[in-house]
Amino acid sequence: MIVGILKEIKSEENRVSMTPSGVEVMTANGHTLLVEQTAGVGSGFSDAMYVDAGAEIVATPAEVFERSDMVMHVKEPQPSEYAMVKKDQIVFTYMHFAADEGLTRDFLKTDSVAIAYETIEDTSGSLPLLTPMSEVAGRMSVQEAAKYLERVHGGRGILLGGVTGVPPATVVVIGGGIVGTNAAQMACGLGAKVYLLDMNLDRLRHLGEVMPKNCFPMMSSPSTVRELIREADVVVGAVLIPGAKAPKLITREMLGTMKPGAVIVDVAIDQGGCFETSKPTTHGNPIYEVDGIIHYCVANMPGAVPITSTIALTNATLPYAVEIANKGWKRACKENEGIKLGLNMAQGKITYKGVSDAFGLEY
Ligand code: NAD
Repeated sequence: MIVGILKEIKSEENRVSMTPSGVEVMTANGHTLLVEQTAGVGSGFSDAMYVDAGAEIVATPAEVFERSDMVMHVKEPQPSEYAMVKKDQIVFTYMHFAADEGLTRDFLKTDSVAIAYETIEDTSGSLPLLTPMSEVAGRMSVQEAAKYLERVHGGRGILLGGVTGVPPATVVVIGGGIVGTNAAQMACGLGAKVYLLDMNLDRLRHLGEVMPKNCFPMMSSPSTVRELIREADVVVGAVLIPGAKAPKLITREMLGTMKPGAVIVDVAIDQGGCFETSKPTTHGNPIYEVDGIIHYCVANMPGAVPITSTIALTNATLPYAVEIANKGWKRACKENEGIKLGLNMAQGKITYKGVSDAFGLEY
């Protein structure tokens, strides 16, 4: 199969959908790889590195679309690309159709085969192509909080781990899934006192067994949140209710009970945010203050660390790309239930129920 790796064109996006080492694996499987010129530069991969791995560098996105059986991206195709997508071409990327009716309706008209990273499932029912980005965002949340706690940024001026004779900071992480566990591990590693809240007892039991001694897994309830945020120097919002908007767990009124200069990081902002005062921010202008509390609400946190994010993402996508390219999309979907769940559109029809339900379109 001829596989095209496109350069990302969405703003603040420096990731790329395949590394040179991924290209080497794909070519070893007998495929021809076309990589758009400078596609990997934002993630630290030069055109020469792709050529060494066996790819051909192609000057324009139009040529990549024109010559490829399958194209790969990181973000959803942008309107300027729709006309370049060919009938029956496989487009393998994050699509997030259910969040964007315009994209869904326009993309349907391309008659292509859209396989979305975010709906592929593994045998345990989890979402293997979302997990790596949650790991990045969770780990980054504490790094960002530590930075904005510094006085020069308007924060409380406290070191997460304290020092000899000085107590550490208190970090409250709400949501004990992938983001929350990674945030808690980072905060624990830096020596903070960490409360990790979840509503799932089995999950809490597991966290109690695997997390370090300075992490205290607790059942999440409105009263526990109310009580703990008074003590918090940092609060990380990491909840997810599948298919629903995030619940508002900290109201504006509650900010008044927190310590001035505390930092709240709302990682769940891409699902609407779990604090009442959250609004999406960008890497260029990541924080704002409400009632003396610093808010960090960047919706695409992994974009700030494209080298780590690209490698983490492509580690997860590569086995699927190999299987789709080796078997073709029909056989890959037939033989791998997880890839079948990733199939969102084929031959002008929606093939994923969540997308058809979102807009009442034919399934
Ligand atoms: P996950 O499903 O692994 O974990 C979510 C956890 O939240 C679950 O364990 C669930 O039991 C818990 N939960 C639900 N309601 C709760 C409540 N009221 N109190 C406490 N816990 C509650 O999800 P994840 O992968 O960790 O993702 C978390 C959020 O981070 C999602 O909204 C995701 O979209 C977002 N995210 C954002 C970025 C970013 O760049 N901003 C990047 C990756 C993920």
